Amino acid sequence: MLEVSDLHAGYGNVEAVRGVSLSATPGKITLVLGANGAGKTTTLKAIAGLHAPTDGRVTLDGKDITGLPAHKIVKRGVALVPEGRRVFAPLTVAENLRLGGHTASRSAFEKTLAQCYEMFPILSERRSSAAGLLSGGEQQMLAFGRALMSQPTTVLLDEPSMGLAPVVTDSILATVRQMADSGIGVLMVEQNAEAGLDVADEVVAVARGEVVWSGPAAEARNNASVLLAFLGEA
Ligand code: ATP
Repeated sequence: MLEVSDLHAGYGNVEAVRGVSLSATPGKITLVLGANGAGKTTTLKAIAGLHAPTDGRVTLDGKDITGLPAHKIVKRGVALVPEGRRVFAPLTVAENLRLGGHTASRSAFEKTLAQCYEMFPILSERRSSAAGLLSGGEQQMLAFGRALMSQPTTVLLDEPSMGLAPVVTDSILATVRQMADSGIGVLMVEQNAEAGLDVADEVVAVARGEVVWSGPAAEARNNASVLLAFLGEA
């Protein structure tokens, strides 16, 4: 289980994250909602070791991972799928997946690759295609697959539906559900609140770097604090 307590992070004089506490539980999707600039991406980056926190603690199964370099955090079992997917366009699907699994032993690598192709049959079909030729939805699946190759216990997803048509968004979020159902803890930032709430278990609403509400997804849908945070008026 990933636990974040009283996390602070910023850029120069801008304190983008101001005391965020949240957790991601195995088998569950925790959805982070909030307006543009609320500090969602910075929170994920600070957890993943891509942006140094200035205060607070991040623990994984009780062990402190605060401020470790990103590659060490991946090794501990936390994988980030960044906003905009960032697949390596000239490389094939198989090569992109290989990069995600470079820390694994050969036998673990082959096993994880097989699991990955089972979860995303389209990646298996297109394993020899250049990643840049895939559709947006397929690239998002590749970005998920690349993260899963490091055998994470927790995945951090930054706006997986960005730029995708509604029907593709639904199928991407269904695969997020599948990831959680396989036992992974998912912490997901998603602008499409309606679609995100359909698959989420827990919700954390943030405004101006602070958590303004957290609770079960079923209670978030008509909650005024969540709505205001999402609209940037909290
Ligand atoms: P969005 O949905 O627009 O990505 P967000 O909730 O993810 O928003 P962040 O990207 O974490 O928010 O940004 C939080 C605050 O930090 C904003 O005020 C933003 O302008 C500022 N910020 C983000 N990145 C930088 C940076 N590289 N340098 C300076 N300020 C930054």
